[in-house]
Amino acid sequence: MFESLSDRLSGILDKLTGRGALSESDVNEALREVRRALIEADVALPVVRSFTDKVRVRAVGAEVVKSVTPGQMVVKIVHDQLVEMLGADAEPIDLNAPAPVAIMMVGLQGSGKTTTTAKIARRLATRDKRRVLMASLDTRRPAAQEQLKVLGEQNGIDTLPIVAGQGPVDIARRAIQAARLGGYDVVMLDTAGRIHIDEALMHEMAEIKAATNPHEILLVADALTGQDAVNLATSFDERVGITGIALTRMDGDGRGGAALSMRAVTGKPVKIIGTGEKAEALEDFHPRRIADRILGMGDIVSLVEKAAEAIDAEKAAKMAAKMQKGHFDLEDLAEQLRQMEKLGGMSGVMGMLPGIGKMKKQLDAANLDDKMFKRQIAIIQSMTPEERRKPDILKASRKKRIAAGAGLDVAEVNKLLKMHRQMADMMKLMGKKKGLFGKMMSGL
Ligand code: GDP
Repeated sequence: MFESLSDRLSGILDKLTGRGALSESDVNEALREVRRALIEADVALPVVRSFTDKVRVRAVGAEVVKSVTPGQMVVKIVHDQLVEMLGADAEPIDLNAPAPVAIMMVGLQGSGKTTTTAKIARRLATRDKRRVLMASLDTRRPAAQEQLKVLGEQNGIDTLPIVAGQGPVDIARRAIQAARLGGYDVVMLDTAGRIHIDEALMHEMAEIKAATNPHEILLVADALTGQDAVNLATSFDERVGITGIALTRMDGDGRGGAALSMRAVTGKPVKIIGTGEKAEALEDFHPRRIADRILGMGDIVSLVEKAAEAIDAEKAAKMAAKMQKGHFDLEDLAEQLRQMEKLGGMSGVMGMLPGIGKMKKQLDAANLDDKMFKRQIAIIQSMTPEERRKPDILKASRKKRIAAGAGLDVAEVNKLLKMHRQMADMMKLMGKKKGLFGKMMSGL
């Protein structure tokens, strides 16, 4: 999402850090470029103005002049202001209320409301061990209630039984009642959307709010719609009152303007972001980490958290034990590749590593794209179990068969085997260094 802005800002700031002394006009020139970069990233104009003004005041002040490394100091100031613009501290979804805590999800049709409802429910259930009930109040779109039911079944979350002919407010009341009787901690209300904001929609939202007194009202908005998302949040807040924002499609290649200006314009926190279609593609919005990512400082904390959620600890521990003994067959490699895929593929992992943004071109040239893991897994899947255990038996004719099975060249099969050999050798070496590697693996 922030790739192009990140490239621009890193470029501008790199020029500053390369110098010894900075004059006021150096700083002003850099700030003009920063301003342009933010506008091109579709950040709301008043937000850009206030951002650059604040940076300027600090950057031409004594703080920088006296600094031994003035360039670094400016980078720090830009970073601090970015964090402030994004809302300073992370504000996660708040469940601090008597059970059942009602969370009302509002937004336009197609914004990802139903998907996000299920994602949040799944996370509250699996990570936070809450009992969650979901209810769809969308009686307009014929399949909406079924859609939530299916998502509930897929993710092991209970949904309110559907009663044909009931209106949204009655469903909402029934949901609260059912949650109370059933001992649920949280009840998620997925409301109906429209293509545009209209009176009827706002009226319906206000009625549901009055009937259920939700602790959180989250507006779901599509990050790819840029400033429209920001305007939408403002309208919903004025008419219904929202407690926070869930921004979806942060995995898309939008310019980032919505995510960057949402907090500053609406005064409401972005609480959560959707980063893909899968149920686990949900993250808290951490202003500091996002600022780190934008300024190319990487985001190791998010990567480790993502890994901890995606990686099956039991499997990892088993694999680590095997590796310590120097066993690492192709089945193990396939398992590792699957884990990497779960972390969002190559770009998902790389985007969070510091300094990697600048290496992106080299990575592209080396053909390290998102499909790489998929191709490698396909090759291993085309092998027989025996071949996976004993790669040594793979001679030309078998390799040809495997390549054909995966729809790839024999060269790709050779590349994978070579990579596996190198990894297996390394594992053997590390296995001898008693336990350290194993601890690292299971510590993820
Ligand atoms: P609703 O009409 O607002 O309830 O929208 P849905 O929840 O049905 O979502 C519409 C489409 O957007 C579906 O295909 C979702 O899979 C997709 N979607 C939702 N959130 C995200 C996200 O964070 N990233 C991506 N790439 N797709 C998403």
